Amino acid sequence: MIGLSSEERVPVEPPPAVSVTLEGLNQLLALSPDALLIVDEQGRIVMVNAATLALFGYTREELQGQLLERLLPAHLRERHTAHRQRYTRQPHARPMGEGLSLVGSRRDGSEFAVDISLRPVRLDERLLVIAAVRDTSRQRRLERDQARQAEQNRAQAALLDLAHDAILVRDPLGRVTYWNKGAENLYGWSARGAMGRLTHSLLHTRFPVDLATVEAVLEREGYWEGELIHTCRDGRAVVVESRQALLRDGEGAPRAMMEINRDITARHLIEQATLIAHTHTAERLGLLQEVLDALPSSVYLVYGQQARLLLANRATLRYWGAEWPQDQPMLEFLHAHRIQILDERGASLPGEQYATLRAVQAGETVLQQQEIIRRPGESGLPVVVSALPLDARTDSGPLVASSEAVALVVHQDVRALKQAEALKDEFISVAAHELRNPLSALTGYASMLLYQSGRGRGAKLSKWQREALEEIMQASARLDKLTEDLLDATRLQAGRLVLSRQRTDLLALTRHMVQQAQMSAAGHTFSLETTLASLPVDIDGGRVEQVLANLLGNAVKYSPQGGPIEVRVWEEGEIHEARLAIRDRGMGIPSSEQGRIFGRFVRAENAQASQITGSGLGLYLSRELIERHGGRLWFESTEGEGSTFFLALPLS
Ligand code: ADP
Repeated sequence: MIGLSSEERVPVEPPPAVSVTLEGLNQLLALSPDALLIVDEQGRIVMVNAATLALFGYTREELQGQLLERLLPAHLRERHTAHRQRYTRQPHARPMGEGLSLVGSRRDGSEFAVDISLRPVRLDERLLVIAAVRDTSRQRRLERDQARQAEQNRAQAALLDLAHDAILVRDPLGRVTYWNKGAENLYGWSARGAMGRLTHSLLHTRFPVDLATVEAVLEREGYWEGELIHTCRDGRAVVVESRQALLRDGEGAPRAMMEINRDITARHLIEQATLIAHTHTAERLGLLQEVLDALPSSVYLVYGQQARLLLANRATLRYWGAEWPQDQPMLEFLHAHRIQILDERGASLPGEQYATLRAVQAGETVLQQQEIIRRPGESGLPVVVSALPLDARTDSGPLVASSEAVALVVHQDVRALKQAEALKDEFISVAAHELRNPLSALTGYASMLLYQSGRGRGAKLSKWQREALEEIMQASARLDKLTEDLLDATRLQAGRLVLSRQRTDLLALTRHMVQQAQMSAAGHTFSLETTLASLPVDIDGGRVEQVLANLLGNAVKYSPQGGPIEVRVWEEGEIHEARLAIRDRGMGIPSSEQGRIFGRFVRAENAQASQITGSGLGLYLSRELIERHGGRLWFESTEGEGSTFFLALPLS
């Protein structure tokens, strides 16, 4: 059963002539823990010990006298016979396993690796060979396992080399025992250069806390994590995020320290730059704040759909009478302090119409919107508000983190203006009142003179004298209308105008007014178009008459060349409205002036250029009066083509 030889050995020594007795051999065999057998020159088994029988699973009788090849796998027997014969010709001592990879075969056919050593002996002049057989399959398995383990270690090392992070292992004295590619790349030290060196002095490690603390944590927790600064081979400093773990052996003694370091230098730089930028922005905002604080008006910046406060000057606190915390939505702030926002007339304003919210929600630029801030228990602060949507991106980055809308809002206290206005209204009102008496004396005496001389009383008037008196009458009538309008305007301003509403047929009222207008305007042709029989509305008849007279009068006045004036009355059933339109083919209103034509004392350029007299109060009064009825007044007009004024009143 001498198996395959990977390398043939040429004997250098002559066969040893050890002479033994059979008895001696027998005792030797029995004593040995190894499997021993004795084979004769023909290759027959002469003697086996108990260990051999146990190893191969045969009985002594089954082996004794058999050819040695019986203990080999069948496929090797023939080659072995040749080997054996060669050996018998030149027998020599051969130690176990040298250069050989041998296989034995048990009785049950199973095979196993063996090592064999041979020793030729002489017995009664016969050449015998003692073979010691050792089962090496366990050892081979161990070797295989070791090879596999080594392979695995190599794969793991290759894997660690793939990592971008620097991975290193230190022994308990702090000397490098492993250094991956990542560490080579990061620090510039090759594994060979780093091996065996003290990591902390190699990398000039700077710890966020002292080294003793780090070591204490490692000792206690077995783990430490933190930022370190290392110096690379080229002197460059890198910031790393380090994770370190302490490995202990079976007895709990420190065996190694594993360290994974991730380069966060770039991130660190960005963080620092951001911090600097933030500080810079904060400084600039601080300066801006100082400038804003010096202003008497309330100035603040809001952002987002809910108008959250970004920044406010000192005056803002005075305007609201309460501290508006940063980032609080406007409505929440108002609600918390029971602050109301009213329109200029003192009616409560829906939130979406606040200048501030219009700017952030609809992106509108609101200029000079009149509002009243009313704090609980106070009379209200009249303010003019301007709100401008801003481009939130500045040179040094966005004002707010997200892409939300930002608006600059300025509130100006107009109490003093309002007081001046009230004083002016008061003056106008007094003046108009004072004008009334002399005016009625003027009209009264002029009409008396005309009337009496017409009836032949007193001196007869010449033609020019009569004309002069008629002129006085007309001028006084105009003056009278003006004083009435002025008084109405001041009443409206002061909220002293009271409507006395009654169920009225708007159609009948309109028909009457159209007929009257027709009588004094021969150059114009009035028409009234309607499909209705009547149109009941709850109105102050006198006031709506005043509005119709004004609109019809304007239609005549501003179409001096004459022409048709079409009046249409209809019902907008779905929205429950009575509608009226008055259309003329006159000079129209220039589009540039249409936006402000309802203002007090506002007159269009073309009207003034045509020297048509007027005060600019009629449309203002008309709109105010209609709106106080819950209605609306508006117009469409093209310069040179004519105008149509529309009026809407709620149906009864
Ligand atoms: P006024 O006393 O000047 O007529 P109003 O308030 O009635 O005052 O009208 C204001 C201005 O509106 C007028 O001066 C005129 O320029 C313009 N306007 C009013 N109605 C008409 C119209 N039907 N056609 C053209 N312009 C008109």
